[in-house]
Amino acid sequence: MKPKVISFHYVLTNNRGEKLDSSEGGPPFSFLADAGQIIPGLDRELQTLPVGEKRRINVKAADAYGPRDEQLVIKVPRARIPAAEIRIGDRFRTSRDARAAVVTVTALSDTEVTLDGNHPLAGEDLTFDVEVTAVREATAEEIAHGHAHGPGAAHTHES
Ligand code: ZN
Repeated sequence: MKPKVISFHYVLTNNRGEKLDSSEGGPPFSFLADAGQIIPGLDRELQTLPVGEKRRINVKAADAYGPRDEQLVIKVPRARIPAAEIRIGDRFRTSRDARAAVVTVTALSDTEVTLDGNHPLAGEDLTFDVEVTAVREATAEEIAHGHAHGPGAAHTHES
């Protein structure tokens, strides 16, 4: 089977019914199937849907952003954080390397900052209300790059 690029609109909610994200007001989101571009539980289900299909897809944490790892929660002295102002919910990379882990500030005191290296959605069961808007064959370039191109693609090239 030729690799596919799938475009879809979505509304993402957690298991408390809180809306976390959606594609409303923008182009549908496009991704290369089976390339690890989106969470596995959603990738697999979307490949089974025809264009025009609306579906509610429930994805368990294990098939989404994985379980929480409490070992990724660390406390560091306030003085070690280079930012002048720190707020709960701030996210930043642990080094200038673009591949460095992203951490979230989850607690603060005058002397200590608690940093959580888990993905914000780790441990969450997620619900996606989706509508598939297009399915097409991937181009050779997309297959070589391992991601979709064009409007709605998560990835863009500067050139
Ligand atoms: Zn590319």
